[in-house]
Amino acid sequence: MSTDKPAWRLSTLAAQALGKIDEATRAIVPPLHVATTFIRDPDNLYRSGNIYGRPDNETAREGEAVIAALEEGASALLFGSGVSAAVALCLALGPGAHIVAPKVMYWSLRNWLVNEAPALGLSVDLVATEDLNEIAAAMKPGRTKLVWLETPSNPLWSISDIAGAAAIAHRAGAKLAVDSTCATPVLTRPLTLGADIVMHSATKYLNGHSDVIAGALAFAAEDALSARARRIRAAHGLILGPFEAFLLIRGMRTLHLRVRAASENAAELARRLSGHAGVVEVLYPGLPNHRGHDLAHRQMSGGFGGMLSIRAAGGEAAAIAAAARVSLWKRATSLGGVESLIEHRASIEGPGSPCPPDLLRLSVGVEDVEDLWRDLSQALAG
Ligand SMILES: *Cc1c(COP(=O)(O)O)cnc(C)c1O
Repeated sequence: MSTDKPAWRLSTLAAQALGKIDEATRAIVPPLHVATTFIRDPDNLYRSGNIYGRPDNETAREGEAVIAALEEGASALLFGSGVSAAVALCLALGPGAHIVAPKVMYWSLRNWLVNEAPALGLSVDLVATEDLNEIAAAMKPGRTKLVWLETPSNPLWSISDIAGAAAIAHRAGAKLAVDSTCATPVLTRPLTLGADIVMHSATKYLNGHSDVIAGALAFAAEDALSARARRIRAAHGLILGPFEAFLLIRGMRTLHLRVRAASENAAELARRLSGHAGVVEVLYPGLPNHRGHDLAHRQMSGGFGGMLSIRAAGGEAAAIAAAARVSLWKRATSLGGVESLIEHRASIEGPGSPCPPDLLRLSVGVEDVEDLWRDLSQALAG
């Protein structure tokens, strides 16, 4: 590198969106590129690198550059949703591939792996990925192409060992992908721990304002798999629209502030909820009694995230009744926005869900923690 600029840290990368400006106007914010098609040169060539808007959009590329930098990856791809990012990666493995994934993970993706992936020639084994022995036992050397982790994982916030899983995957000739939606690059950078691919539902913390559906893959290296994922995105039309990419870039400028604020609020609420009579268990990796706490302590830095779950004393009915009594907290699914959400998780996952029926999932936002506590503690007190 010929630049004498010191390498920027994450907060600077995020706040400046890599420092990109519009050279034509000297505008501090790059323009939103909306064109769907580009002019061919008179000699019949395309020299701009752009042909058509499905594969080629500069605003999406700018967002990808930010995500690649935040994750310390070689490259990144944006998709129309988190699910389409994950699906593109699985399709890129090719038919016949075997995937090892968590038993308890983000529900819609688990459903895709179980219900849709087999018809596309993929086979899947779901194991308790918090236990490296279970991952190792599920590997089929030569056939297993991907180990999938989610950490912390929905909705119990279990922690899986990224470096340990990477070693197992690589020994068997497989890649390791990590759904890092809930950790975000602020708290964990899986590629620096040995993962090959990071996946995000950018709908959540990366965008952070509950107004964009988007997904991303970041790659440790540009290789045949990343190239195939890019081709599949264009071929299947799994793209992110330019306006959504623009909003996502804007949202990421405050990622570090939002994630730290949400983590601090969540840690304080987890501590207080542990002593609440309406709660039998608090699931938060920042609590010393959480099963994954020691590993989370080693693997995460700067906090344990904004997501936690509680199990209501009095079971399912009490959980649903408590959720009905909040006013500041919003009863809604999804997570990672600036506003706090509460959800009776089993109701949305439906039949077959491993989610305990008495569980309330909390996505803690960036509001004042005393306001959050007052509303939540009265709701749980009944
Ligand atoms: C929301 C979510 C997804 C799916 O992302 P979409 O943007 O809704 O398609 C995947 N993984 C995790 C952990 C999520 O929270």
